[in-house]
Amino acid sequence: MPLNKGIVLASRPQAGARATLANFAPFEREIAEPGPGQVLVRHAFLSLDPYMRGRMDEGASYAASQKLGEPMIGGTVGEVVASQNPRFAVGDKVAGMGGWQLYSLSDGAMLQKVDAPGVPLQAYLGALGMPGITAWIGLNRIIAPKPGETVLVSAATGAVGSVVGQLARAAGARALGIAGGAEKCAFAVKELGYDACLDRHSQSFAADLKAAAPNGVDGLFENAGGRIFQASLRRLNDFARIAICGLIASYEGDEASALPDLRLVLVRRLRIEGLIVFDNMELWPRALDQLTGLYASGKLKWRESISEGLEQAPKAFLDLLAGKNFGKQLVRLP
Ligand code: NDP
Repeated sequence: MPLNKGIVLASRPQAGARATLANFAPFEREIAEPGPGQVLVRHAFLSLDPYMRGRMDEGASYAASQKLGEPMIGGTVGEVVASQNPRFAVGDKVAGMGGWQLYSLSDGAMLQKVDAPGVPLQAYLGALGMPGITAWIGLNRIIAPKPGETVLVSAATGAVGSVVGQLARAAGARALGIAGGAEKCAFAVKELGYDACLDRHSQSFAADLKAAAPNGVDGLFENAGGRIFQASLRRLNDFARIAICGLIASYEGDEASALPDLRLVLVRRLRIEGLIVFDNMELWPRALDQLTGLYASGKLKWRESISEGLEQAPKAFLDLLAGKNFGKQLVRLP
């Protein structure tokens, strides 16, 4: 059996402080042969996702904390290399939650076979995986845009945001993106088809938004929170729908993400709903089917930031939290 290598959570970030490289530590361990019912997967890609930051802390949340000394939680795609589970054969391509390591041994319950022809394996960690499904559910179930309405999307070129914008356009809505910098904004418009994109670093963000959305905003897909969220709220129309998907601006305590003035909610009759993708598992097959169809017809695009090698995972993850990724953040494994 080969030697497994991976990265554990070695310590938790200090309360209210940023995560650092010192919070992670490498490990090397022997891999056991699969026992009855077990599957051994060699990972090809590891997904890095903002939710992992929340798991590094202790305390009440919608999911349990990451255990110290255990491989960091994470989505993976790879190939079955040994199996004693009748559902999986050697050579099967699978997506799962293998964590920050080269191999994972499991009972296969969390593994999904991914074998659609012509689809790159790592797409199942991005547009055809958890982030894409999140986009589909938030847009269709919470925002439900009507043709001609305006949908505003923060982190518009990221794993979730890039899919939201394309789905909003496909639904006949006007899609406005918010992204960090001119290069990301150019990509949002030219490649992802956003009608316009606003630079969140612009000193005149509120005025820029007003100019881009002269008739206001009907749906806000919020991925970031913080002060940009506050400015976005002020452009909402009566009966606007707000999907609170993520608050990355607050994950390391940089910016508070406050609820709007309740008077605004009342007078504009706003609907605000928090979204956790795993509450909607029954919608996953339908969402995946539609996203796969869009991809097959060339109507679903995305960009990837790929770091090479497991040892790069902690730095790539800290960069993701700082907004330095451009598209879905992945780690390619040898
Ligand atoms: P992204 O690929 O979008 O990467 C994160 C991006 O957030 C950065 O690239 C950056 O893009 C943007 N960002 C905006 N403001 C800040 C800030 N103050 N600091 C750092 N980055 C910032 O990640 P995902 O698409 O995977 O996730 C997007 C959001 O959706 C996250 O908040 C995540 O937690 C959430 N999410 C929620 C799920 C759910 O079930 N509720 C499921 C999946 C994701 P830019 O510089 O262009 O603004």
